[in-house]
Order: sequence, then C-alpha cells, then structure tokens
Amino acid sequence: MLTNNYDNVAENIKNACERSGRNRDEVTLIAVSKTKPIPMLSEIYEHGCRHFGENKVQELVDKYEALPKDIKWHMIGHLQRNKVKYIVDKVFLIHSVDSLRLAEEISKEAVKKQVYVNILIEVNVAGEESKFGCTTEEVLNLTMEIAKLPNISIKGYMTIAPYVENPQDNREYFVKLRQLSVDIMRKNIDNVSIEYLSMGMTGDYEVAVEEGATFVRVGTGIFGERDYTV
Ligand SMILES: *Cc1c(COP(=O)(O)O)cnc(C)c1O
Repeated sequence: MLTNNYDNVAENIKNACERSGRNRDEVTLIAVSKTKPIPMLSEIYEHGCRHFGENKVQELVDKYEALPKDIKWHMIGHLQRNKVKYIVDKVFLIHSVDSLRLAEEISKEAVKKQVYVNILIEVNVAGEESKFGCTTEEVLNLTMEIAKLPNISIKGYMTIAPYVENPQDNREYFVKLRQLSVDIMRKNIDNVSIEYLSMGMTGDYEVAVEEGATFVRVGTGIFGERDYTV
C-alpha cells in the first residue's frame, strides 16, 4: 500500500516534470513521516526512499537513532531555539528558518559541534496570519544577515501554501517564491547559493513542481491521514 502510494506520487512528479520541460532529477520527494511509526518509514526506506521530513525535534531524533544512517533528515517544522542543539548534527536540511535569532542559534551550535548546517528560509508568501515564516519584504534582508554567520549556509527558500480545494489557486504563491529566489540569486550575495525551493504538499505538489520546486514535502499522499488523537 505505502509503496504503491509512493510510486504514484513519484509518477505524478515525473509527469509534472515532463509537462513543464524539467529534468526529473531536479525534484526530490521528501516523505513527511511525522506522527507515523517507524515500521512505516522502514517500509518505504526499503523501497528506496532516502529523504524523510519531520516537524518535531524529539520525534526526528528518535527516528534518526532507530533508522539507517544514510537517511537524509529534513526538519520542516517550526523550530524552537532551545532545541536546535539536538539536531544540528543530524539534519540534512532545516527548511523552517524564519528569524535572525533562530539562525544565530543554529550557527552557534554548528560552530560548537564543528558541523556545517544547510538551511532554507521559510517565507510566508501568502501572508497568512496563522503561518510562520518571514514576509516577502523581509526575505532579502534576512538572507543578507544570515549569510554573515559562520557554519550556516543558505541554500534556498521554503513556503507552506494555504490549504485550498483547488491546487491551481496556489500557483501564484509558488511563482512568487521562485521569482523571489531568482531576484536574490542575481545579487550574488557571499555565502548564499540558492539551489533549493521547497514547496508543494499532498494537495498541490504537482503545481509546485510545474513552477520550479526542487523539494516537495508529501505526507498524507504517501502515509495516509495523520491521527493526532493517539
Ligand atoms: C505536515 C507537513 C507537510 C505534509 O503535509 P501533507 O499535506 O500531509 O502532505 C509538508 N510540509 C510541512 C511543513 C508540514 O508540516
């Protein structure tokens, strides 16, 4: 079942790449495994999946300890500064950096542990009040400030689009994030190399791929609905 779901999502990504003239290798599928038990992760790991996304520090650390070390872990949820120290040496990419204070903490812990941490800046492109992320006005300045910090490297941008019935409604936000990233790339800021755009979830990942996503974060579409009551 899970492996079928995974293959379906992968197939849809491939088709979206073809429709938009992109190379399939440009897009990586992150299996968002939050709340799901380890055997479910193992099942798609065995099937070839190496990128997993989690939104809670403790859960990420527990799964990191339990599963093979060639997994690339993505921290996609809001990150509290006092928990940064537990993950800086375990994650492949932190998608959810939205303030200078958080970036400073990541940098400090990375220096301490002598690691380099790759991050994305989370942008609240749609300007939803309920969402984390910096505003589109803040993003350039935040990028320039974070770029000065040691042992942290900005690799691109992430957004969480609104929940919508029709995924086409989110296209404008994906276009906007891509445009922002192109504008910033042209400024050639030291220590900033924009390679990644993390956008698209179960409801809208195909549209996101059409508009330039390099990481899509799919949970429900692979693992089924999440149960937060247990
Ligand atoms: C949970 C989550 C996802 C996956 O959501 P689905 O709709 O289940 O695919 C993607 N990105 C972030 C930041 C999330 O928290």
